[in-house]
Amino acid sequence: MSLAESHSSGTRPWRVQIGKNCCMLGRFVQSIQRELIMSVTADLPYDPDALRERYREEREKRLRDDGNEQYVEMKGDYEEFLEDPYVDQAVERDPVTEEVDVVIIGGGFGGLQAGARLRDAGVKDIRIIEKGGDFGGTWYWNRYPGAQCDVESYCYLPLLEELNYVPKEKYSYAREILSHSEAIGKHFDLYEGALFQTEVTGLEWDDAASRWVIRTNRSDAIRARFVSMANGPLHRPKLPGILGLDRFKGHTFHTSRWDYDYTGGGPDGGLDKLGDKKVAIIGTGATAIQCVPFLGETAEHLYVFQRTPSTVDVRGNRPTDPEWAKSLEPGWQKERMENFNALVSGVPQEKDLVNDGWTDLIGKMFHQFRKHDDVKREDIPKLMELANFDKMEEIRARVDEFVEDSETAEKLKPYYQMFCKRPTFNDDFLPTFNRANVTLVDTNGQGVDEITEKGLVVDGVEYEVDCIIYSTGFEVGTAYTRRAGYDVQGNDGKLLSEHWETGTRTLHGMGSHGFPNLFIMNTSQGGFTANFPHLLDESAVHQAHIIAYALDSGHTRVEIEEKAEDDWVETIKGFAAKGPTGGLGGPSCTPGYYNNEGKPSPNAAQSGPYGGGSIRFFRLLKEWREDGNFKGLLFR
Ligand code: NDP
Repeated sequence: MSLAESHSSGTRPWRVQIGKNCCMLGRFVQSIQRELIMSVTADLPYDPDALRERYREEREKRLRDDGNEQYVEMKGDYEEFLEDPYVDQAVERDPVTEEVDVVIIGGGFGGLQAGARLRDAGVKDIRIIEKGGDFGGTWYWNRYPGAQCDVESYCYLPLLEELNYVPKEKYSYAREILSHSEAIGKHFDLYEGALFQTEVTGLEWDDAASRWVIRTNRSDAIRARFVSMANGPLHRPKLPGILGLDRFKGHTFHTSRWDYDYTGGGPDGGLDKLGDKKVAIIGTGATAIQCVPFLGETAEHLYVFQRTPSTVDVRGNRPTDPEWAKSLEPGWQKERMENFNALVSGVPQEKDLVNDGWTDLIGKMFHQFRKHDDVKREDIPKLMELANFDKMEEIRARVDEFVEDSETAEKLKPYYQMFCKRPTFNDDFLPTFNRANVTLVDTNGQGVDEITEKGLVVDGVEYEVDCIIYSTGFEVGTAYTRRAGYDVQGNDGKLLSEHWETGTRTLHGMGSHGFPNLFIMNTSQGGFTANFPHLLDESAVHQAHIIAYALDSGHTRVEIEEKAEDDWVETIKGFAAKGPTGGLGGPSCTPGYYNNEGKPSPNAAQSGPYGGGSIRFFRLLKEWREDGNFKGLLFR
């Protein structure tokens, strides 16, 4: 039914904001538009005003003065949470002091793709420095039971065609993703010269020699012509600032350092040592949604401490059809990634090649408002809000469908707009609450009150447990150099932390004036897409293009011009001035890491992603390369 058709089908009052109008005609047009919108709401099975009010209340309940400061950094007494449980033995080696063409910091998807694209561009002398015991990054650390990619694997796993590999399932589990990371390392000879179990502690630019000096916790002092910082966006786990955090006498660990010695089993489950253990897990984000079913299956008793429920949508995993895999034509992965990116950006495509949770979710929401054929520009936000209400009603109905106890089901229902928090997809999480050995401890948005020697306290009730698992996520809103774990000293001793103190300053999000020969893989002032490896690949191709050109043409110094950086900063701020960019966690959302815990950062307008969307951003980079003038760069 179009808006025009629905206009005649009756109306129900619905408040619509109307701006000041100066003339009769304007008022007339506005009143027609208002009626059109009102007519769409005529047959709604819910009351939008009531939902809006409920969302507001839930948000208010969770707002806290300390915002990001509520979390505890894993240092000092808490540093042991960071220990790597996946290496059997620390590698002993002498410090390295040699010189190489390129050092890549980080051996996750970013570093691997940077390495692969540099190899494609003919760069031979590369060293990857990685704090873990192997490649994999996120997928090295996050081996908790049930860890699985949420974007379909055929789009998400990098370089599939290059490795002639098709994942086994639509959504790969961590083990397969980790093996694939290792396979990329082997295929592109990136193990050669790689330094594992090594953390960078500082970067200094030696201007006289045009070299970076990279220092590490192994006393290395490596010199490099170029450095690529592929630190990863979510790699510094954080703890909740709960009263008595240090008091607990039982066992504890963070989900990104899963202690299989304690739980038994492995990433596929079978946590057989938990049969006589009472276990608490704090947090119900994307990680907990995946591991809770496995804990519920084996723990003597599992207590799930929830502050805010997640949206839990359909997973629908399935094995890869071998006939389909055989039928794939060269170029298939790029085509699929671009199809995904277009669909989640709201750009209509002839076909949804991907059909995963994201394209389905976003596609349906766009369809919801596109079905009205005479939508006015100013109607769009209201119609999008309605589509969002529809989707969230579906998510809430799904809780009732799977959770038998109605009180528990009510507590598991999220009341905020879709995309205020990271959507999740899982078919086993909700039914886990039907088990007699699983208890949901909802904290009504307030979090756990206190940790004692024996357990956790909520609302005056102490829950005694043997083990507390922190599924409390990773640092996001803190300074980039704090998250990286080191600062960068550029030309004339200038620090990157100072240069970015009042907001990111870059050209294309990939490097800054005063920091020659340095490339950064980051979303701030760069592109943003739900398929993060796609963004990493575009960045990797771009930086490899510049580095290979500099090496081939004998240039020793590549610097971003001050004016180019200033202009890019203005471009980013210009988009921000037109409204929120990036589409996630708007200011009216319930707090979380998408909106800096509900306290907008003063630097947000400057440090957000490129507001024109990832499709335009990737095109802009491609055209920049094709132009051949390296606009905004100074080569010496
Ligand atoms: P999140 O930051 O998403 O979740 C942290 C959880 O801890 C939230 O539920 C939070 O509640 C809760 N919490 C924090 N403090 C307290 C407290 N004091 N008391 C009780 N609860 C508390 O971390 P995750 O590790 O779950 O996920 C991080 C990100 O990693 C995801 O958003 C996603 O981007 C990525 N990820 C991707 C996966 C994939 O691709 N398959 C899988 C898993 C993670 P509240 O919501 O109220 O803040």
